[in-house]
Amino acid sequence: MFLDPLQSRSLLANALANRYAILAINADSHAAVTDCLEAARQCDAPVIIETSLWQLDGHAYGGGDAIFGLTRYLAELAVLAASERYRDVPVMFHTDHIKGPRTVAILSAALCGVRMPLTGEAGVLRASTVSLDASTLTDEENVALLCQLADIAKAAGAPATFEMESEVDAGHTPIERTKKLIGAVEARHPGVVWMWAPGLGTQHGLASDGYPEFRVDLIGENIAAIKALTGRDVGLALHGASGLDEANLAAASRAGVVKVNWSSESLLLRSRAAMDYYQTKRDTLADPKHNAWKSTAMDNGVQSHVAAHYVPRVVARMKILGGAGRGLAFLKTLSP
Ligand SMILES: [Zn+2]
Repeated sequence: MFLDPLQSRSLLANALANRYAILAINADSHAAVTDCLEAARQCDAPVIIETSLWQLDGHAYGGGDAIFGLTRYLAELAVLAASERYRDVPVMFHTDHIKGPRTVAILSAALCGVRMPLTGEAGVLRASTVSLDASTLTDEENVALLCQLADIAKAAGAPATFEMESEVDAGHTPIERTKKLIGAVEARHPGVVWMWAPGLGTQHGLASDGYPEFRVDLIGENIAAIKALTGRDVGLALHGASGLDEANLAAASRAGVVKVNWSSESLLLRSRAAMDYYQTKRDTLADPKHNAWKSTAMDNGVQSHVAAHYVPRVVARMKILGGAGRGLAFLKTLSP
């Protein structure tokens, strides 16, 4: 089931109350999206599918036109999530790390909704939750941009559910900065921020040698500070978690991280499986007269091989985060 922005708030609150985190996978392709939903179905976990600019612009979706890519991505996910196979899986769609001159246009479309293909109906397909990349913004610019987007959504009558971030790659965010940033948005747009992504000591990518500075203790401190400011239980989003070990991931979920982003390690698993496929099938692919050439050469060949290796790893990660067995139970809490 595809969750709208208000249902997404309920899921995030459910995750925080029950101390589990939802795996948020940066999915690059139709095959990757399918694999992630399949993993969620197999272990009855909620799942967040997220896209950054490179997926929206990328070959599988936008082909250079990010808003077309967003439309295509949303249409695919809406169809998949409503299918008989995946209707019991709570599915959120999140825009992640959008930055640059097209940020407002792309995120306005994500918030207010893109036009339905064929019928032209406006605003039907929209993102569940939205965040922007604050890595090149000052605090004032970060607050102003988020408030601008909240204004746009409000004018369109669209509910907005945001993840706000600061310094996700830059060490440990001081609690005073958390208060300053969240407080500034809350003063102008109370109730729109439902995830907070401070620096907790992680780094994006896989190049770093371990995470000696990952500070689980900061999670509860941030949640308490936001509760004091807003009266809401707002969980944390964890970026740069690809290299974190299982113990830290589990501890983070128990401490109040509700969304764990997963990109680099996911890419590594998928690309290695594809490399393995092409290496082991090399002789068959080199001989078009081979009776297995066609089935080996089809996209289905490599995609099925990648899925067989990748899906169990996604399931394992969902289990580490405590999300397994939570999907259907959450859906039963939603009013019909
Ligand atoms: Zn990130």
